[in-house]
Amino acid sequence: KRLILIGPPGSGKGTQSPIIKDEYCLCHLATGDMLRAAVAAKTPLGIKAKETMEKGELVSDDLVVGIIDEAMKKPSCQKGFILDGFPRTVAQAEKLDEMLEKQGTKIDKVLDFAIDDSILEERITGRWIHAASGRTYHTKFAPPKVPGTDDVTGEPLMQRKDDTAAVLKSRLEAFHRQTEPVIDYYSKKGVVAKLPAEKPPKEVTVEVQKVLS
Ligand code: ADP
Ligand code: ADP
Ligand code: ADP
Repeated sequence: KRLILIGPPGSGKGTQSPIIKDEYCLCHLATGDMLRAAVAAKTPLGIKAKETMEKGELVSDDLVVGIIDEAMKKPSCQKGFILDGFPRTVAQAEKLDEMLEKQGTKIDKVLDFAIDDSILEERITGRWIHAASGRTYHTKFAPPKVPGTDDVTGEPLMQRKDDTAAVLKSRLEAFHRQTEPVIDYYSKKGVVAKLPAEKPPKEVTVEVQKVLS
C-alpha cells in the first residue's frame, strides 16, 4: 500500500504510523523526523532548515521533495510506504504524483486526520519524544511508566523545540493555508478517507483498519 497521512500538528499521525507500518509491512517516511535528524547532525540541509522549522513555517518544496525522492528508493519502501507529513503543499503533491507515475504506481489512500484546532494545544504542549526511536508519549494521554523516561530503553525523553503554544499557532496557519488544499487535490482523485482524529488512539486505529481493509 502507498499511503499519505495528512493532519495538523498533534492530530496523531506519528502515533498511528508505527501501528499501520507493522500491520502492512510498509516503510514509514516522516519528513519532520528526517529534517530534525538533519538539524541535529548539522548537515547542510539541516542548517538550511533549522530557522524555518523553529518559526513553524514550511521549508522549501525542493528541499523536502529531494529528501523523499531519495528515501523512497530504500529497499524497505518497495512494498509500500506511509508518507507522514508529506506532501504539505499542492506543489509537493504534484511532484510526488509525477515521481510515482514514472514508476507506474500511484497513491492508494490519503488518511485525513480531521480534528478541531482547539484540541491541539494540549496535545502538542504535553508531547514528549524518545528522539532515537521516534516513540511519542503524552504527559496526560499516554504517560511513560517513569516520567521523562522511555519505556523501552530507559533513556530520557525530550520535548520538541517547536512544540510551544506560540509556534503551534504558525504551524496551524501553515496547515490551513498550504496543506488543507492538498486534501482537496486528492479528494478530486477519490482517494481521501476522513478519520475522527479527536477520538482516543485505539478508536482511531480501528477506523484506520476499516479504511485499509
Ligand atoms: P502528529 O504526529 O500528528 O503531530 P502525534 O502522534 O505525535 O501527532 O500526537 C501528538 C501528541 O498527542 C502526542 O503526545 C501523542 O501521545 C498524543 N496523542 C496522539 N493521538 C492521540 C489521541 N487519539 N488522543 C489523545 N492524545 C493523542
Ligand atoms: P507535526 O508532526 O507536528 O505535524 P512535523 O514533524 O511533520 O510536524 O514537521 C515539523 C516541521 O518540519 C514543520 O513545521 C516544517 O517546518 C518542517 N516540515 C516537515 N515536513 C515538511 C514538508 N513536507 N514541507 C515543508 N516543511 C516540512
Ligand atoms: P536542540 O536544538 O533543542 O538541541 P535539535 O534542534 O537538535 O534540538 O532538535 C529539535 C528537537 O527535535 C529536539 O528537541 C528533539 O526532541 C526533536 N527530535 C529530534 N529527533 C527527533 C525524531 N526522530 N523524532 C521526533 N523528534 C525529534
